[in-house]
Amino acid sequence: MSIKNKVVLVTGGSSGIGAATVELLAENGAIVIAAARRTDKLETVVSTLRQKGYTADYKQLDVTDFEQMQDTVQEITKAYGRIDVIVNNAGVMPLSKLEALKIDEWNRMIDVNIKGVLHGIGAALPLMKEQHNGHIINIASIGAYEVTPTAAVYCATKYAVRAITEGLRQEATHNIRSTLISPGVTESELADHITDKQASEAMIEYRRQALPASAIAQAILYAISQPAEIDVSELIVRPSLSS
Ligand code: NDP
Repeated sequence: MSIKNKVVLVTGGSSGIGAATVELLAENGAIVIAAARRTDKLETVVSTLRQKGYTADYKQLDVTDFEQMQDTVQEITKAYGRIDVIVNNAGVMPLSKLEALKIDEWNRMIDVNIKGVLHGIGAALPLMKEQHNGHIINIASIGAYEVTPTAAVYCATKYAVRAITEGLRQEATHNIRSTLISPGVTESELADHITDKQASEAMIEYRRQALPASAIAQAILYAISQPAEIDVSELIVRPSLSS
């Protein structure tokens, strides 16, 4: 099944898994719009693809702002006639123990990881209903299945993303598919923003064996590539166990 000319919005498209997904989907013929806050990074991702003859564009977007998300999705629909897929990928992971009381970081994780995903769904769903098809892909984590020390709030946000995606699947109408992709440790900038010294140091060993971001992009491509009657509900992708 080809993804040629499918119109795909990838949030968090400026680095890591999002950037790898933008690249892989564009290389496979999709019309890809990368969205995030850092336009210099988005520009680099998109211009490299354009130079190779692929179709890609970018939008500045803060997923915590529902109006911005709505405007982005509406602009894409106006420009390309529809929106086939939204990949709600933007996320942050400033880990720390609960007792550190990093309230601002808790709130940021809730705002980006949960509300950001809900905003993507809220913006895309009405348009997908109108066009009688669509695909909503949410990026969770192995932290959506197990909790580890320093990751209580991060995991809580990813459990929430899993619950939201399952709810979406159960309520599906208008040929709208939903997919949860849960990466294990993957090379990206995700751990670079941890401010807690202990949590940051612990991550160095924990993240030593990591998947390339392209492995998660491949999982996303697989879900999108399926024929309309096949809904890939959930994929977990981890580094292989090694001794
Ligand atoms: P990165 O830090 O490389 O990418 C995160 C992306 O999210 C960036 O493009 C960033 O762009 C964007 N982002 C952050 N805040 C906002 C915001 N408010 N509005 C819009 N975009 C935002 O990490 P990953 O690629 O690893 O993360 C992608 C997803 O994968 C996340 O949801 C993460 O939780 C999940 N994940 C990652 C794992 C890993 O080991 N890497 C494992 C499991 C899950 P910008 O700063 O330009 O806005």
